[in-house]
Amino acid sequence: KYHEQLVELKGNIRVLCRVKPVLKEDQHNEGQTVVVSTDPNNESAVTVLNKGKSRTFELDKVFQPQATQEEVFQEIEPLVTSCIDGYHVCIFAYGQTGSGKTYTMEGTAENPGINQRALKHLFSEIEDRKDMWTYSVTVSSVEIYNEVLRDLLSKDGEKLDIKINPDGTGQLHVPGLRLVEVKGFQHIKKILAKASRNRVTFGTQMNHHSSRSHALLTITVLGTDLTTGTKTSGKLNLVDLAGSERVWKSGAEGERLKEAQNINRSLLALGDVIQALRGRQTHVPFRNSRLTYLLQDSLGKGNKTAMVVQISTLERNIEETMCSLKFAQRVC
Ligand code: ADP
Ligand code: MG
Repeated sequence: KYHEQLVELKGNIRVLCRVKPVLKEDQHNEGQTVVVSTDPNNESAVTVLNKGKSRTFELDKVFQPQATQEEVFQEIEPLVTSCIDGYHVCIFAYGQTGSGKTYTMEGTAENPGINQRALKHLFSEIEDRKDMWTYSVTVSSVEIYNEVLRDLLSKDGEKLDIKINPDGTGQLHVPGLRLVEVKGFQHIKKILAKASRNRVTFGTQMNHHSSRSHALLTITVLGTDLTTGTKTSGKLNLVDLAGSERVWKSGAEGERLKEAQNINRSLLALGDVIQALRGRQTHVPFRNSRLTYLLQDSLGKGNKTAMVVQISTLERNIEETMCSLKFAQRVC
């Protein structure tokens, strides 16, 4: 019985690692030796060579540097499907700035990432089920920067508060959050482009801001069984986390330091929550950050989570790579 419960829990949290290929623009100055290797015969191992010592990390799945966006999505697809059946799902991209988080979640025009593929998949599943079920799909998007929540689908990034519903159910709600009902796939592309643009323009120092904030895209899928009237309510949270690098190591002060502390606190809180859920602890520390507070109805028991830990292969990033893999192992 105990074993079954463990297996079930493990099944609900998958920790994946994506190894970034070495790009042309990465091949400059020092530290460009490749120190991370994957094993074509063992899909769950990744090895780092650090100061002459080699250490292997075992995760649920490790993607080779050449893995395509499609291959990454295939691992995520079952989770996306399950939110049509009423599950609440979280998918996170974790890693230092430049390791490929936004590439994995948003992707590029030619190589769209998980966000677009997930919505496309949802609509095709809904189409397949249309004789039995009818669905409505709603999207919202927020960023969390310095523990402040902003609406990425509003015109000028209105600040938002998280409140507890006064109805006694303890449910959270975010007054004023813009919810857009999605009509079809072309509509989605427009919404995603808007959220992505806003994430950049709300910041004064563009690139800096977007790497120091968490971006969340939340898709709600409400279903009604056409014959019995049974309802389902699923949710898919797609999260591009702020860069995990520990900038105080480079002597950051003032605003930069405060920012770094906020990011660090929220990433630690996320790790703690996932570890608590895995360890079947009764106290799950959701309140320690805006991020975990906001996601608590999707991170709890019976929900599903995937964490994609992004790493660089280059020697100059080795410290952050080790930290990211340790984080992965802790929640794995
Ligand atoms: P992050 O969001 O973690 O800061 P990005 O996703 O912006 O990192 O990635 C940094 C750069 O590397 C971008 O130009 C991105 O397009 C590119 N990149 C990241 N991962 C890959 C990949 N697997 N294949 C090709 N290019 C990638
Ligand atoms: Mg990014």
